[in-house]
Amino acid sequence: MMDCQRCGQRNVLEIDHVLPDGTEVKFFFCHTCEEKWWDRDGVQIDLTEVLDIVRRHRE
Ligand SMILES: [Zn+2]
Repeated sequence: MMDCQRCGQRNVLEIDHVLPDGTEVKFFFCHTCEEKWWDRDGVQIDLTEVLDIVRRHRE
């Protein structure tokens, strides 16, 4: 289980997600402080980066 990077609680939802180009990412959501973040291969990525991959695949 993941600690929230913002509030430090372990009340974090974790969802595996595969982007249209096959990139495997995880989405995290903290139930305590509502922080959201994305992770690819153990490295945090911005939502904008996730959306870029989705957009690039559509074009
Ligand atoms: Zn939190």
